[in-house]
Amino acid sequence: MLLRHTPKEITERSALTINPAKTCQPIGAMYAALGIHGCLPHSHGSQGCCAYHRSALTRHYKEPVMAATSSFTEGASVFGGQANLVQAIDNIFTIYEPEVIAVHTTCLSETIGDDIPQITRKAEADGKIPEGKYVIHVNTPSYVGTHVTGFANMTKAMVDYFAESTGHKIDQINIVPGYVEPSDMEEIKRIAAMMGVRVVMFPDTSKVLNRPQTGKYEMFPEGGVTVEALKTTGDSLATIGLGRLASGPAAQALDTKCNVPCEILDLPIGFKATDRFVDTLRKTLGITVPDIINNERGQLLDIITDMHQYFYGKKVALAGDPDHLIAMTEFLVSIDMWPIHIVTGTSGKKFESRIREITKDSPYPINVKAPGDMFLLHQWIKNEPVDLLMGNTYMKYIARDEDIPLIRMGFPILDRIGHSYFPIVGYRGGMRLLEKILDAILDRQDRDAPEESFELVM
Ligand code: SF4
Repeated sequence: MLLRHTPKEITERSALTINPAKTCQPIGAMYAALGIHGCLPHSHGSQGCCAYHRSALTRHYKEPVMAATSSFTEGASVFGGQANLVQAIDNIFTIYEPEVIAVHTTCLSETIGDDIPQITRKAEADGKIPEGKYVIHVNTPSYVGTHVTGFANMTKAMVDYFAESTGHKIDQINIVPGYVEPSDMEEIKRIAAMMGVRVVMFPDTSKVLNRPQTGKYEMFPEGGVTVEALKTTGDSLATIGLGRLASGPAAQALDTKCNVPCEILDLPIGFKATDRFVDTLRKTLGITVPDIINNERGQLLDIITDMHQYFYGKKVALAGDPDHLIAMTEFLVSIDMWPIHIVTGTSGKKFESRIREITKDSPYPINVKAPGDMFLLHQWIKNEPVDLLMGNTYMKYIARDEDIPLIRMGFPILDRIGHSYFPIVGYRGGMRLLEKILDAILDRQDRDAPEESFELVM
């Protein structure tokens, strides 16, 4: 196997990443842009970057992801990409007729130093942007940040470009859902709807990247937040940002720009974080939690009670995005499992301290690193083995080498299907996660059980 030579001895590395626990910034920007209705993401750089970003999203969501590119060649690389982008804007509005073009940069155009607002103004002056259509932009140099940063930046750009404050409040709240699956966005909206809360969610990739098979291709599916709805976010009563890294910048920008107060919460993964989300909705709007939500909460609690004996004391290694890892670590600790090795490829000063706070009662030493890589995670596992791995598809190499069950979670998941249709957030998402965890633990127990203890009933 590829990783079987990973050494147990850990040596200090400062300028080398091996098996990164991240992907590049524009992927997150592209994903967020797809959450605007009628938007065509545009990659301002060479074709190779755009092809990679599209294929990463297509492989994860199993849906054709469309994006345009400025198609840099040698000329643009030397003299800048203004002519390419102006031409691209003209072509895109003429041929594909999107409502919005969401431009993100790449390492190449960032290194050249292309000024996207200036180029956009030139396109506008040349009459290339039709009346009522929009070009928005975000800078996404991939030598800083990750796909999470790209998502956060593009989501903030939606505020910068569209949010307006008319002075008349609207009885609605904004939810920035974080870098989660379309199914998770759907579930967050379902919870809000059950509580009778009117919501503007941005971005919103539900019904875009988990749409039904109709036999008909639609370049711009029915999902996504509309520009009209984005404009009203400045008049909303409040904003809830789910996930500090992915949603914090947009929620805070809306507060600064339009005086919409914001609350930044963890992703509502697991019992406690979902409680906090539901409670924030309740307090913000002065409403009561309906029975239907209390029932789902009770069901999750019942499953935890039934399964707890199998979870108790199991050690877990996790890799992924900070917002997911914080919520997931808290969930695991709440069911008496012990996350002991936790790594993310995304930098964040508060991440390590938050993980240490959540795991402070652990009987084991905790290894946590941000940014770190999966090579380091593998080394930690060699030194202190675990019962379960949770992370994206790239974790399967460690799972195979160390013979440890893996639960796929986060981005990208390239070798399984269904994650974009079933949520992991909310009480119901919690139930699904628990079922996955229990199946993994008991499948392994069955596989390894001697005949005399091979149980039919658990
Ligand atoms: S890291 Fe930079 S050069 Fe590589 S695919 Fe991403 S944007 Fe393109």
